[in-house]
Amino acid sequence: MTEAKLTWIEDELTSLKESGLFINLRVIDSAPGAWMQVDGKRVLNLCTNNYLGLANDERLMRAAKQAVDDFGVGPTAVRSIAGTLALHVELERAVAAFKGVEDALYVQSGFVANQAALVPLVGRGDVIFSDRLNHASIIDGARLSRAKIVVYEHADTDDLEAKVKEHLSQYRRGLVVTDGVFSMDGDIAPLDKIYAVAETYGLMTMVDDAHGEGVLGEGGRGIVDHFGLHGKFDVEIGTFSKAFGVVGGVVAGKKVIVDYLRQKARPFLFSNAVTAADTAGCLAAVNVLSESTDLVDRLWKNTDIFKSAMVLLGFDVGNSVTPITPVMLGDVKLAKNFSQRLFDEDVFAMALGFPTVPQGLARIRVMLSAALSQDDLDYGLEKFEKIGRELGVI
Ligand SMILES: *Cc1c(COP(=O)(O)O)cnc(C)c1O
Repeated sequence: MTEAKLTWIEDELTSLKESGLFINLRVIDSAPGAWMQVDGKRVLNLCTNNYLGLANDERLMRAAKQAVDDFGVGPTAVRSIAGTLALHVELERAVAAFKGVEDALYVQSGFVANQAALVPLVGRGDVIFSDRLNHASIIDGARLSRAKIVVYEHADTDDLEAKVKEHLSQYRRGLVVTDGVFSMDGDIAPLDKIYAVAETYGLMTMVDDAHGEGVLGEGGRGIVDHFGLHGKFDVEIGTFSKAFGVVGGVVAGKKVIVDYLRQKARPFLFSNAVTAADTAGCLAAVNVLSESTDLVDRLWKNTDIFKSAMVLLGFDVGNSVTPITPVMLGDVKLAKNFSQRLFDEDVFAMALGFPTVPQGLARIRVMLSAALSQDDLDYGLEKFEKIGRELGVI
C-alpha cells in the first residue's frame, strides 16, 4: 500500500504509461559489441554509442585491469583533497594534446562537465545564448548558473546574432553554447559562423562535442578540428562514454579557464574522483586514437555503406552528416512497432518519439560503429528491408 503522501507519484506513473511515455528498461548481459545479449537474446547492436568498438577493445580492457592491480578500485577522495591520481594528470595531458588545446579537466561524466564549466563562467547578471536543441545537460548547467538564458533557433546564426543584438547590452558578460553534433538528427552546429558572431560581439564560446569526439575531424579529433577552429573555442566539453568507450567527462580549452575551473568547479571539488580503472581505460582510448585513424576510417566507411543502401531501399534518413542515422517514420506508434519487429528479428535499434523529438517526427535511430562487419551491415539492411515492406514504409 502506498502511503497517502506518495499516491501522487503513482498517479504520475500511471499517466506516463497511459500516454505511452513510460520507459521500459532493456537489460544487457554482455559487452556492447557488434552483437550483444539483450533481454535474454543475442541481437545486432545498432543502438549503443560504441562508435569505434573501444568499449570492449582488448587494449582498453588490459589497461583497466592493470590499473585495478596498481591503484585498487576507488580513490576515496575528491580531486582537490587526495583524489588526484598520476593517471588523471596523464589523461588530462594526453587528451589536451589529442584535441590540440592548452589544458583539460577530467570530471565524472559529460553531463557533469557542462555544470562544471557553465556555473563558474557565468552567473547572475550574465547571459547565455543557447541553441534550441541543446542537450539536457547544457540546459541544466545553464539553469544552475542563474544566468539569463536566451534560446536561439536551431543552428540559425542569423537568429543568434539578432538575439545577441537585442539582449547582450543589458548584461555584464555573454556566452554562446551549442552541441557540436545533435544526437537526435545527426546534424552539426555551424561552428565557423557561430564563432564569427561570438568574435564580433565578444562572447565566450563553448561547444559540447560529446558525439563529435572520436568521430569528426582528423582521426576523431572532434568538431573544432573538423572546422579548423583550433584555439578559437574557449571551452570544449567532451565525454569518454561514447566513441572513447569508457566513462567520464572532460572540459578542454584555454589554460586560464581550466586553471580557474580547478578552483571553482563544484563536481571537481565536491564529488569523488573517477576510478583508476576508468581513467586508465580512457587513457588507452586516447592513445589508440592518437596512433592511428583506422577505427575512425572504418566507422565512416560503415556509415557510408549503410546510409547509401538505406536510401536505395527508399528510406528517408533525414539530414544527418554523421554516423547517427535517423530512419524517419513520422508516427510514433509506427516507429515503436518497427523497433519491436526489428527486435523480433534480432536487430536492436531504438524508436524515438515525442518528447525526445518533435511531434510527427518519430523515427528509429541507428547508431553505426566500426565494430560492425560487412556481414553485420548486410544482416541489418536485410531486416530493415523486410520490415519496411511489411509495414508499408518502402
Ligand atoms: C551524451 C551527452 C552528454 C552526456 O555525457 P555522459 O558522459 O554520458 O554524461 C552530454 N552532452 C551531450 C551533447 C551528449 O550527447
